[in-house]
Amino acid sequence: MSLASDRRFAKNLLAWYLKSGRNLPWRHTSDPYKIWVSEIMLQQTQVATVIPYYHRFLSAFPTVQRLAAASEKTVLARWEGLGYYARARHLHQAAQVVVAKFSGQVPSSFDALLTLPGIGRSTAGAILTLAFGQRYPILDGNVRRVLCRYLAIRRDPRDAAVEAQLWQAAARLLPQRRVDQYTQALMDLGAIRCVPKWPRCFTCPVRRDCRGYAEGIQETLPARQRRPPLPRHDHVVRVILHARTGRQCVFLRQRPAKGFLGGLWEFPSERASDGLREAWLQIGREHRLSRSGGPPADRPVGRIRQTFTHFKMTLHLFIERYRTQRNPFGLVSVPVGDLKDYPLPSAHRKIAVALATALKTGGISRIPNLLRPTVPDHLPTRISRLHDI
Ligand code: SF4
Repeated sequence: MSLASDRRFAKNLLAWYLKSGRNLPWRHTSDPYKIWVSEIMLQQTQVATVIPYYHRFLSAFPTVQRLAAASEKTVLARWEGLGYYARARHLHQAAQVVVAKFSGQVPSSFDALLTLPGIGRSTAGAILTLAFGQRYPILDGNVRRVLCRYLAIRRDPRDAAVEAQLWQAAARLLPQRRVDQYTQALMDLGAIRCVPKWPRCFTCPVRRDCRGYAEGIQETLPARQRRPPLPRHDHVVRVILHARTGRQCVFLRQRPAKGFLGGLWEFPSERASDGLREAWLQIGREHRLSRSGGPPADRPVGRIRQTFTHFKMTLHLFIERYRTQRNPFGLVSVPVGDLKDYPLPSAHRKIAVALATALKTGGISRIPNLLRPTVPDHLPTRISRLHDI
């Protein structure tokens, strides 16, 4: 690529952006905190999904101070459904660092931003560029795809040497001025023109110099390694209804802070490697549930299937009524009406909503039907076979 084509890349992109750039809520502010929130939400999640969460989150935590002062439970509750909950925990921890170490001001230096949990090189570049007008490259998933195609890079972009090459190219293509608009234009190019499948090359502003297009290989890039099929896991979920001070309650437990769905609450569940009945009994042993015996092993109330990045999971739901005067070990008794205040994984939220509705409108025998229509479109959850109880 020549210096002239490098300059043309930015010039054409900026001209296109003025006509075709997207109107997004975080583009109407230069508040670094709001831009930071949007950048964290946009990691791993599409714009259309992020927008309502962005508004909801900022109405609950309009400043970094308000976010820092909130409890983790409240923060996770506002994040619920957006997935990748480590992002929310890191954002919360980083807000506390900003308040404690930076007088409540989001740092405007690259090195200082990198010290905050959840902020890597690309996110730091985006914050500095969009909020502070500084000149830094970004390299998120969209930009990586655009550059692999534009430069006809055939090697796997996850390779360290290719990654370094992409960062160099991202820095080289940066214009001297209007870097904020350029960065937004580059994000838009990846989102609405150079899309993963069927890139819209005929209306692409940089087609003239795109090597991938010239060589006719753009749809094969970036190079992908063939992924083996996702493993499938079965889990038993045990919903234990009981009465406490005249209210219908269930038991919840909190997941460990670190790791998968960290910090969220859930109905007690167990991986069913040795069968549903054994998993059901294991939950009982783990939490010292005094009732013995098991449910008919082949009769869960319903099954919920969910796909995550690295595996597929089927939740087998068992509901039982329980007479107890004390909380079982490690579980918290929560009135069904208060479940909305607890951040739950999306499949457990689905169960909680169905349970609350069923108890208000005729009893738990309605749960199988109530489970069916409550999943938001963007969540990869679906119900398979359901049984009456
Ligand atoms: S010409 Fe096609 S492949 Fe090249 S950058 Fe534009 S959309 Fe992507």
